[in-house]
Amino acid sequence: MLEDQRWAAKIFSSGWQPGSGTLDVVEPATGALLGRTGLADAADVAAASAAAAAAQPAWAAASILERAAVLRRAAGILEQHLAEITEQLIRETGSVPGKAGFELGLALRTLLEAAGLPGLAQGEVLPTAGDRWSFARRIPIGVVGVISPFNSPIVLGLRSVAPALALGNAVLLKPDPRTPIAGGVILARLFEEAGLPEGLLHVLPGGAETGQAVVRAAEVQMISFTGSAATGRQVGELAAAQLKKTHLELGGKNSVLVLPGADLARAASAAAFASFFHQGQVCMSAGRILVPEAQHDEFVELLCAAADRLKAGDPRLADSDLGPLIDARQLARIESIVSDSVADGARIRTGGETAGLFMQPLVLSGLRPEHRAWQAEIFGPVAPVMEYRDLDQAVELVNATEYGLSTAILGDVGTAMRLADRIRSGIVHINEQTIDDEPNVPFGGTGASGNGTRFGGAAANLEAYTETQWLTVRSEIADYPF
Ligand code: NAD
Repeated sequence: MLEDQRWAAKIFSSGWQPGSGTLDVVEPATGALLGRTGLADAADVAAASAAAAAAQPAWAAASILERAAVLRRAAGILEQHLAEITEQLIRETGSVPGKAGFELGLALRTLLEAAGLPGLAQGEVLPTAGDRWSFARRIPIGVVGVISPFNSPIVLGLRSVAPALALGNAVLLKPDPRTPIAGGVILARLFEEAGLPEGLLHVLPGGAETGQAVVRAAEVQMISFTGSAATGRQVGELAAAQLKKTHLELGGKNSVLVLPGADLARAASAAAFASFFHQGQVCMSAGRILVPEAQHDEFVELLCAAADRLKAGDPRLADSDLGPLIDARQLARIESIVSDSVADGARIRTGGETAGLFMQPLVLSGLRPEHRAWQAEIFGPVAPVMEYRDLDQAVELVNATEYGLSTAILGDVGTAMRLADRIRSGIVHINEQTIDDEPNVPFGGTGASGNGTRFGGAAANLEAYTETQWLTVRSEIADYPF
């Protein structure tokens, strides 16, 4: 898949082409150079967008069997090359094998679910006041722009690319410049090998400028963006000025709420997973852990013990539970959030030692709502714990954030169900931690976590990647008074 190097120093735009420059791809665990992709500038994006628009009508007119077959073949190729793709994902993104397996399992299911979409794009026959037939039918959007982040680059690209292609669109994909092989080249190779006709998928690695060019490109009618709230706001503003449809999936400040009487050992294990999995670099990572006053001290001890059992190290080594952070900028940001909070009175209970980009999982207690570690999305292996007085205060604390992505409630199910009714969150898990996804569920957040759009499932994907056309038909030309 990657070994023939046809992609090296190239962008994927009507075949493998030189871009305006190249991007070095560095392994965060070792600093080794993993490869080099092409870099796309605004002119590359404009050319790709025009080529995509030219290729798209024939794809939209292609048989639903042909479109489904491309998606099914891409799934087969992913399975066939799973070992190689897993290795690349581990090295390029610093994912331990368990995280890579979770991501690639989801990616495979995403392709298989998308293979069913061409046959599901059904419309409606509408009642009408006229002497005619009236229909609502689904038509592709045209050219879709996809901008994806570094943390789970394969599945977070595919969850837009696969349904968009399945439903007859062409796609421009801009992966994060730190993960352009996993987030870009691998997707291009999957669809190239699957026989997707040329011009329908363009992979355009680059940074903010390339992303902006994708949003601006004349033929791009929709943007599917996954990334931080700050960038999402900019992308949303730029797209809105051009009246483009925008799906924004942004960050989170997700809570694990431990109920009175919950099994504390299990709750601590769930919270540790929610805060430390993939070094906390998941939009659904828990950045707030709420525990009843009476159980707080015992819980913190259990959470610290769980943190101490984890080891951050090269994700290719069997004893590493956590891999490296993606880069030095992320590490510096995490450290500044922790040190500001400590200066304001929070206490580090364990962890936080660093070596290169590796950081031991850190437990913070003594937090107050105004502390930076309680307010900001940390995107690092940090578990801030706060005690609460009663359930009303707990709900108030959970809701006191601009984000609203994922919430976990641990303990008595009846109490948890009543609280779930009061929590503003796109996702609520009872007796599970905050991080999960399946390609057939409506995934998405509220507030600063996104603009209310959903990924996954036929209904959300049809809504996202098609337009509805009203079509009327009479057997003869109608009579008019003019
Ligand atoms: P980011 O917003 O910095 O980058 C995301 C993507 O946007 C990258 O491809 C980047 O190159 C591009 N980009 C940056 N500036 C741009 C601009 N001005 N115009 C257009 N594109 C631009 O995000 P990050 O910090 O690298 O990723 C982590 C963030 O993503 C976290 O906030 C995380 O919560 C969020 N995330 C959300 C989900 C979700 O499904 N809700 C999933 C994963 C990650």
